[in-house]
Amino acid sequence: MFVPQRIIFEKGALNYEIGKNIYQEFKNKEKTEIINLTNNKDKEHIPGDNIRDFYKEGKNTLVVGVKKGYKFQSCKPSAHWQLPLFSGCLGNCQYCYLNTNLGDKPYIKVNVNIDDILDRSKGYMDERKPKITIFEGSGTSDPIPVEPYTHSLKRAIEFFAKSEYGRFRFVTKFDDVDTLLDIEHRGKTEARFAINTIKVIEDYRNLLIYLNEKIPNNLEHPITFEVISHRYTTRAKNIINEVFPDNILPMKDDDRTYKYGQFGYGKFVYPKENLAYMKKIFTENIEEIFPDAEIKYII
Ligand code: SF4
Repeated sequence: MFVPQRIIFEKGALNYEIGKNIYQEFKNKEKTEIINLTNNKDKEHIPGDNIRDFYKEGKNTLVVGVKKGYKFQSCKPSAHWQLPLFSGCLGNCQYCYLNTNLGDKPYIKVNVNIDDILDRSKGYMDERKPKITIFEGSGTSDPIPVEPYTHSLKRAIEFFAKSEYGRFRFVTKFDDVDTLLDIEHRGKTEARFAINTIKVIEDYRNLLIYLNEKIPNNLEHPITFEVISHRYTTRAKNIINEVFPDNILPMKDDDRTYKYGQFGYGKFVYPKENLAYMKKIFTENIEEIFPDAEIKYII
């Protein structure tokens, strides 16, 4: 469970149940400073004169806010829409894809107006029905470390369990899932666990916490794999090099292929030959070790 050094409540956040629960959980904890804002200028309350210190302090900060006036972001190819319940992650993985969009907002943010957000998802489902609409709960976050006191994922899972045309999915690297066990999900939610090779864990993680990376051996449900190779944007690379000046991530642009992306900015991916080799290795190994598993994609 994430115990932040500071919690910033944006204006109005304490009027909602999730905001109140977070406040109750931490109001008497000495290690956690509570900051109540009358505006939404979160960053002014996170110390750090340079991006490196700000990033470190941001990773110890929880912002509790109310999401207003927004459209859902698309989330291709794995889902149709991002469900904007959270953003950010407390992990310190150097290769993190969030650096592109959230490099200057490294804190975890929880949006407490969950009823409104879930209600809006109905409109997106109506547009597509009778086709199924898939919502991603962790498009720009890892929500598990705050779940024990937000219960937002639980609410979303129960909501989609009752929905005819909606499905929900989320991914995590954390194992603090006790509050999610025994939920009535009716098979409408897909939980994914992100795992890495030992080399990646040892070389590219600045661990503040232990991340669970073992594949459970008692899985009763169909197993699927989504295999993703490292990629970076120029913006992410610049932030990573400032925050982790000693990193040894392979980010020489000349060694990569530039690929134009759907969001208007390109990414540096591995060249075709490397990807072909990666596909071969992962396909062979997964087929051998998990003969019943489905490989959704290897990119
Ligand atoms: S756990 Fe995932 S989302 Fe969090 S910092 Fe690491 S790569 Fe980024």
